Amino acid sequence: MRALRVIVVGGGIGGMAAAIALHRRGHDVEVWERAAAVGEVGSGLTLWPNGLRALDAIGVGAEVRSRAMADTEGGIRDRSGRWLTRTDTEKVADRYGPVVAVHRADLFDILRTALGEDRLRLGVTVTGVDIEDPAVQVLHSGGAETADLVIGADGLRSVVRTAVCPHARPPRYAGYTAWRMITEPQPDLRQGGQIWGSGEIFGIVPLADHRVYMFGAVNAAEGERAPDGEFSAVRRRFGAWPDPVPRLLDAVSPDSVMRHDIYHLPDLPTFVRGRVALLGDAAHAMTPNMGQGANLALEDAVTLAALLDNGELDDALRRYDALRRPRTRALAHRSRRIGTVAQWSWTPAVRARDTALRLMPGWAMPRAFARALDWAPPA
Ligand SMILES: Cc1cc2nc3c(=O)[nH]c(=O)nc-3n(C[C@H](O)[C@H](O)[C@H](O)COP(=O)(O)OP(=O)(O)OC[C@H]3O[C@@H](n4cnc5c(N)ncnc54)[C@H](O)[C@@H]3O)c2cc1C
Repeated sequence: MRALRVIVVGGGIGGMAAAIALHRRGHDVEVWERAAAVGEVGSGLTLWPNGLRALDAIGVGAEVRSRAMADTEGGIRDRSGRWLTRTDTEKVADRYGPVVAVHRADLFDILRTALGEDRLRLGVTVTGVDIEDPAVQVLHSGGAETADLVIGADGLRSVVRTAVCPHARPPRYAGYTAWRMITEPQPDLRQGGQIWGSGEIFGIVPLADHRVYMFGAVNAAEGERAPDGEFSAVRRRFGAWPDPVPRLLDAVSPDSVMRHDIYHLPDLPTFVRGRVALLGDAAHAMTPNMGQGANLALEDAVTLAALLDNGELDDALRRYDALRRPRTRALAHRSRRIGTVAQWSWTPAVRARDTALRLMPGWAMPRAFARALDWAPPA
């Protein structure tokens, strides 16, 4: 296919990966990002074998693995600290490849270097997209520009989505809110995992530089915020949870705690209109319970770029929609179901859930994730 002029709206993980994939194929790509910098994010991220394969396809997988933590032990414990289920990480690694955890800032550092600063336009807010035939006009804070292809990678509150699906239903609040934080280095900790309580879960994810990424999710009203600061709220909720939660909280800088309400996007009727394609959270924002949102954004990016190699633009976009919509929809639904169960707060239901988890064999969890992990980039 001839070299296309491509504007990628949004410099998150999905947008950066799409731009790298297209630039490597000789297309003229720019990422327009409204923030003054990309990736200054103080939290961690789990990358599964499918996401790592996508990173391999854009040439940065080895670098990401070298800065990531692999093969930590994990599983789910109950509120008293007893293991309900342990994930057989060796079996997952043998079958699919390792699961790793990375600091988001490290991932962005790698993506930014791979793309090149000159292809990144920061401080540009896209205000709308005019879909003309065949070109597309992108309206932004400083004017308007035309492209052969526009990629909407502008996240949960996507502006580009409005042009692709004018009647899309807005994101829905999932009923719970999440704090994320990172500790000072904790040299001895290799064991991660989650603790599930009643309407509350806490996750521990060791990183490569001995710091630990943690998250806590609780049922809450949408938009609720702690009057005395979010770290105080985290301490109130989780300060007396099983070891090592209290000592890890002691190693967190209170200012670094981030809080986001959790949303999912109702299914879209299409990811494509004219020469505009949506990817990542703009297309299929999901609850974080399977740790797949960013992994699927990486898959989207690599799939779209690969399809453009093998055919005419409109046909490639049709195939992109046909390939990506069913897969992401199925995983988003599954993630939401897991989130509902994880956030149960009615005591008999919590007891039944915990018993079911205790009886579950070690291979059952990896099998539940098989559909997510079994992905490979299109040839
Ligand atoms: C608590 C929590 C934990 C998570 N954990 C994991 C995990 O372990 N693994 C995983 O795979 N996923 C995880 N996710 C999901 C993951 O963070 C997202 O799915 C992923 O970051 C989506 O990437 P994206 O590039 O599509 O969108 P975003 O990261 O939202 O990026 C969108 C970008 O577009 C920019 N933008 C928005 N509007 C405009 C505009 N009008 N003009 C210009 N720029 C614009 C934004 O500034 C932003 O930089 C988690 C999510 C949460 C909330």
